[in-house]
Amino acid sequence: MNFSDSIFFQRDILIATSHKKEAAIAPVLRERFQSKIIVPGGFNTDRFGTFTGEIERIHSPLDAARKKCAVASKTYNAGLVIASEGSFGPHPTLFFVPADDEILLLTDYENDLEIAVREISTQTNFSGKEVKTAEEVKDFAQAIGFPDHKIILRKAERDNAHIVKDIANWEELLMTAEMFMNRYDSFFIETDMRAMNNPTRMSVITQAAKKLAGLMASKCPGCQVPGFDVGEVVPGLPCSLCSAPTKSTLKKVYVCKKCNYSKEVYYPNKKRHEEPMFCDWCNP
Ligand SMILES: [Zn+2]
Ligand SMILES: [Zn+2]
Repeated sequence: MNFSDSIFFQRDILIATSHKKEAAIAPVLRERFQSKIIVPGGFNTDRFGTFTGEIERIHSPLDAARKKCAVASKTYNAGLVIASEGSFGPHPTLFFVPADDEILLLTDYENDLEIAVREISTQTNFSGKEVKTAEEVKDFAQAIGFPDHKIILRKAERDNAHIVKDIANWEELLMTAEMFMNRYDSFFIETDMRAMNNPTRMSVITQAAKKLAGLMASKCPGCQVPGFDVGEVVPGLPCSLCSAPTKSTLKKVYVCKKCNYSKEVYYPNKKRHEEPMFCDWCNP
């Protein structure tokens, strides 16, 4: 992939983040585009909503990222801005599997261009449970990779009346847990999902940044504008036994948001047929 003839090459990029996510994003952009990364000191993204629930998130993740880009661009007079937005919960297609859903949005105000990527990863230690004893606290902490990953304790799930964040070592954890045990019959322990306190999440953001860099370097064959991306995934890969269409991907349709040029790519998973076990006719 060629990065040096990109419209993004060697430009200043402002990363609108307050949780040190630039540590996951900046190296990727510096390496590929020789970007000059700017991270504003006092940019408070918490006012757009927090994971820990003190400020409720009211926008969709993409809209929230858009808002962050717009505010940062205005505040710091920046022409090229990246914002990110993460959410955690059950995987959208794999049931009962927790997932980290990261969105990165690049907005180029000079070229009136927006490039968004989404990285959904099942590599996450997103977790929380009600506990009563020091033993349960220790078990939870070990399971989520404490102290590399930090922990939050609170009175009850989604209860912000009494919450302790940034717990980073065993002594602190056990002392805080004891304080909660003395005051309440039970309390809630959870993984701190804020990027700077969660290396697993940081690595998912790095994956998203690599995806973003790839799209930034891509060009529409029609108008050469970057961000030539899949607009539609069409199912219907034929069954190898009966040829009936299955739910597996037959083709991807790339669409340019600028000029509407589109390109179909058949068999994107390098498979021309699907196994009969995934066929509704052969394996109902
Ligand atoms: Zn185009
Ligand atoms: Zn079949």
